[in-house]
Amino acid sequence: MTAYEVINPATAERVETVHLLGVDETDAAIGRAAKAFPAWRAVAPGDRARLLRRFADAVDADLENLARLEVLNAGHTIGNARWEAGNVRDVLHYYAAAPERLFGRQIPVPGGVNLTFAEPLGVVGVIVPWNFPMPIASWGFAPALAAGNTVVLKPAELTPLTAARLAELAYQAGIPEDVFQVLPGKGSVVGQRFVTHPLVRKVVFTGSTEVGKQIMAGCAGQVKRVTLELGGNNANIVFADADLEKAAVTAPYAVFDNAGQDCCARSRILVQRKVYDKFLGFFEKAVKGVVVGDPGAEATEMGPLISAAHRERVESYVDDADVAFRGSAPEGPGFWYPPTVLAPIDPDHRAVTDEVFGPVVAVLPFDDEADAVRLANDTEYGLSGSIWTRDVGRALRVSRGVEAGNLSVNSHSSVRYWTPFGGFKQSGFGRELGPDALASFTDTKNVFLSTEGTS
Ligand code: NAP
Ligand code: MG
Repeated sequence: MTAYEVINPATAERVETVHLLGVDETDAAIGRAAKAFPAWRAVAPGDRARLLRRFADAVDADLENLARLEVLNAGHTIGNARWEAGNVRDVLHYYAAAPERLFGRQIPVPGGVNLTFAEPLGVVGVIVPWNFPMPIASWGFAPALAAGNTVVLKPAELTPLTAARLAELAYQAGIPEDVFQVLPGKGSVVGQRFVTHPLVRKVVFTGSTEVGKQIMAGCAGQVKRVTLELGGNNANIVFADADLEKAAVTAPYAVFDNAGQDCCARSRILVQRKVYDKFLGFFEKAVKGVVVGDPGAEATEMGPLISAAHRERVESYVDDADVAFRGSAPEGPGFWYPPTVLAPIDPDHRAVTDEVFGPVVAVLPFDDEADAVRLANDTEYGLSGSIWTRDVGRALRVSRGVEAGNLSVNSHSSVRYWTPFGGFKQSGFGRELGPDALASFTDTKNVFLSTEGTS
């Protein structure tokens, strides 16, 4: 075991010391999860549903505590952190309905009766990034548990605290300890073991495209099932016929929320040329009004970046770009960076082509619909995006043209737990949330019973 100091990104002070697990401890935990699987899958559907509902209720009762913990550990604003803990509760309630509705099929065939079963996989390994520690964890563990799998979960090294608390709440609710285990540790140790251990039957990975490629290659060794939720570089497309003021006033939220550390951040704003200057005018006022500061204060809209190293990375994208205007940020200590708007900017600049993952946005002009779609798709990623227009036909044409898994029209929302969430292209594959996620935690078994007589 190695001691690891968890740091508050708003103050750069130590919050707590966590012990990171080694390979032997990880193997022991996976062994316990595998041993617990037969009994967990055999729990009557109504009882499994009740346990998940109790877990949801325990999260609800602890919501303020969980939110405060995330403010300390990840620098999230208290408003966002409450939404995140509430999302875990809602996702648990949603999938609590599943155990009693996981139906197989009876398909008519000659000579007998054919049955299909949705079988749980066994041990599922969930690997979580630091940017949304609570919701992303639950998008993996809730449907996995509901479908009858046992779960080992690795939080990001930087943000292990809320995941540990969620495990305590699960146990309070009556979920057996070996059925849901949280294993703090390094990606290269604990995470890597999920990929190579033969008893882990599926890996759910959310993180960078770079690490995602290694996970996918590693999983190939055992033909292990994998869901990959990777990076994004999303376009916010604003047409001249849109409610321009609404598009501009809501655009800061779409990119500076969570200090831009959001795979769905609309980090490229594409504006039709004839309203480009007008849009920038509205946008400047909105950006300068973003309240940046103490994430625990109710009025704060943007907190710090996660770490000093990450701030350096974000800065490196802006060094040689033209800054059109900026919002404010505290001096520090803490890993602060102001909301930053880059314009004019070459579409080939690294700040446009890469995922910056910080409060930085590039604003680029386009001429017509075809140009907008071409620019939006000029990236290896395909996760989300927004389209602002009053023309319904155009909204649908552009939605069909943009290669991304999650689009919203006249809105910046990305995540609704009832609907599938995931990427096109190098943003990954497989879907979380909604009914699709449930299917990804089972394999289909087909059984044929002959009805032919033997005498
Ligand atoms: P990351 O560096 O890829 O790490 C993600 C997780 O993988 C962490 O828990 C990390 O552990 C672990 N890990 C690292 N190397 C590993 C390895 N070789 N084997 C197994 N696990 C390993 O990503 P991040 O920097 O935490 O998060 C930011 C990225 O996540 C961004 O690219 C963002 O777009 C993406 N993201 C995508 C979605 C989506 O739904 N599509 C959602 C949120 C974030 P350690 O922390 O110990 O290194
Ligand atoms: Mg990383």
